[in-house]
Amino acid sequence: MNKRKFIKLSIFGSLLYSIFPYKISLAETKKIINQNLTEAQKKIMFEEATERPFSSPLNYEKREGFYHCANCGAKLFKSSSKFDSGTGWPSFTEALPGAFKTKVDYSFGMKRIEYHCAKCGAHHGHVFEDGPGSTGKRYCNNGLCLIFKPSS
Ligand SMILES: [Zn+2]
Repeated sequence: MNKRKFIKLSIFGSLLYSIFPYKISLAETKKIINQNLTEAQKKIMFEEATERPFSSPLNYEKREGFYHCANCGAKLFKSSSKFDSGTGWPSFTEALPGAFKTKVDYSFGMKRIEYHCAKCGAHHGHVFEDGPGSTGKRYCNNGLCLIFKPSS
């Protein structure tokens, strides 16, 4: 790319940013929306930490309802896709359409698929290909990133 083109593009980019700053920052960066997040939640959602297994009360949640992002409130999972994986983390066979975006994570010498909230970018967990349902997926989610809202 020549210099002039580059400058033109950067001017265009900053112009776009000044017109749609909110939209662009949502799509491109992780953003703390819930100012009441605890330090533990922030560590998981924005530094990709993992909570201790069997520490989340959501492991034992069996009611009907939806699981939402603890940061932005987006609806992520339906209770009917939840199952007991025995891993100690709330696990789901499928996410709601468009709820997450994924990226390959090479940390700890493993190749895993990390997923994060499509709306706010917050890290939620990893998805594996050994799920019990027809999707074959196992979403292994940190309970601290979720808020459960029962339907009744
Ligand atoms: Zn979110």
